[in-house]
Amino acid sequence: MQTEASFIIRNARVLTMDAANPRANAVAIAGNRILAVGPEAEIDAFSGPDTHVIDAGGGTVLPGFNEAHMHIFGGSAELSELSLAGVKGFDALEKAVKAYAAEYPERRLLIAQQADYTILSDDERMTRHHLDRILPDRALLIVAPDHHTAWANTTALTMGGILEGRDVGVGNEIVMGEDGLASGELRESNAIRPISAFGETGGREMLGVGTGGDPEHVTAEERAGDIEVIKRGLAYVASLGITSLQNMDGSLYQLEMLDEIERTVGLPVRVRMPFHMKNFMPLSDLETKAAAWRERFNTDRLRCDFVKLFMDGVTESGTAVFIDDYAHQPGWKGEPLFSQDHFDSIAIAADRLGLPVAVHAIGDGAVRMVLNGYEAAIKANGKRDSRNRIEHIEVVHPDDIPRFKELGTVASMQPTHPPGSADLPVEPYLSYIGEDRWPHAFAWRTLVDAGAEIVFATDWPVSPLDPMHCIECAMTRGLWKEGLKDQRLSLAETLAAYTKNGAWVEFMEDRKGMLKPGYLADIVVLSGNVEAADHANLAAIRPVTTMCDGRITYQA
Ligand SMILES: [Zn+2]
Repeated sequence: MQTEASFIIRNARVLTMDAANPRANAVAIAGNRILAVGPEAEIDAFSGPDTHVIDAGGGTVLPGFNEAHMHIFGGSAELSELSLAGVKGFDALEKAVKAYAAEYPERRLLIAQQADYTILSDDERMTRHHLDRILPDRALLIVAPDHHTAWANTTALTMGGILEGRDVGVGNEIVMGEDGLASGELRESNAIRPISAFGETGGREMLGVGTGGDPEHVTAEERAGDIEVIKRGLAYVASLGITSLQNMDGSLYQLEMLDEIERTVGLPVRVRMPFHMKNFMPLSDLETKAAAWRERFNTDRLRCDFVKLFMDGVTESGTAVFIDDYAHQPGWKGEPLFSQDHFDSIAIAADRLGLPVAVHAIGDGAVRMVLNGYEAAIKANGKRDSRNRIEHIEVVHPDDIPRFKELGTVASMQPTHPPGSADLPVEPYLSYIGEDRWPHAFAWRTLVDAGAEIVFATDWPVSPLDPMHCIECAMTRGLWKEGLKDQRLSLAETLAAYTKNGAWVEFMEDRKGMLKPGYLADIVVLSGNVEAADHANLAAIRPVTTMCDGRITYQA
């Protein structure tokens, strides 16, 4: 007897991502698996009295998006904070902040996000004095899109106890003004956390990034609030057609909350979490924490099976690590967060435990150090299928390009990050790296042509989470000057970097990332035909239905 489908999606342009059967116009689903993919006439045969039929209206149907690099707790928390995306100039900033302050009179700390480094003007950096003029008597923290820099007013600096400055460790800085007091600019998480701790979630949403550790003294009420925040975030994630997310900061606190959500109402999105290794943690943590958490959280819906590290910071704050000096600051290359020896020992130990590693590396100096570590692991342990990755790779030295293929290192990149993309300004970024390095910046095409595997994502909340917007950015990326190589991938490659490749990097290519019989029913139905759309209008095509694990997680 023929199995009856729980769902049939018909009248669709199905892009299966399966090379053996790339296109179809209908899909049948039974339980949490795909039953069949093919022509409507064939798929209709699985229809029974209880089958729900979804008419895709001629829209594209894809495997659900896999957001390969994001921060779920931080992104979720920011959904209720002020977004300054697109705000430009002091007057506009003042207006936005004042309206937000009036809306939340009870908040101890007002947090605004997505403030561009040049929000005031191209040559004036924000200080506490600007913010004091806007809000003299309430604490205000303004955060850059990359989350590596923030600016606080005097009330906030006083509240955080850092108005007079403080040593916050290598790679972090409370910038001091000429008057001997903090200027208001805060670089990296150790500098920002004394203030963000006064936010709605007590700064807990940043701990996975900042310390990798867990919050202390959390009341049951606070934890319940945090779970609600994450649930809202997960619903938002599902509404964008995402069925798998790979979180890039980790803490047991987050894992246990996600596990509780899974056990109570079910996760609407598959979640992959890392163990976040900081430079002050002992190597033995890889065994006692990372490997132990892998055993504890190991289902297809929630897993913790890799190690995340930061090798450097970001270019705009001078914390990214380059091989040669910053173009605007001779004598400064940035300072890595791990020594080469220290990182090598981590890469070797993680590899020995079968734990893939993902490292944030923005400058070409940091990228090289990470590649060196992966090479050291191969030398020490022999070559295995490790699927180690490098996150961001904003600049790569030409000598290191072939090493991605040689070492089997995955390039994890964000089409919303190149200057000029997603409404980002081109300055100061392009002047900081200097014209000589432009050909090797955000070099997706170059890396793929050299044989690197690539995954795309937004790094939410660094960029807006919407995959269709990110795909549009990938397909419309312009050149910073004539003669530079077009770094765009084809639409098919871009869609694969958002679906199939993400499943592969998770070692789950045998059951997700493609629409084929027996695979998990993770599917997004889009409102239009992505192949026929003008690249500049791709983001106008919206998710209509998201299905994860055979369950509808979003319906427009
Ligand atoms: Zn990130």
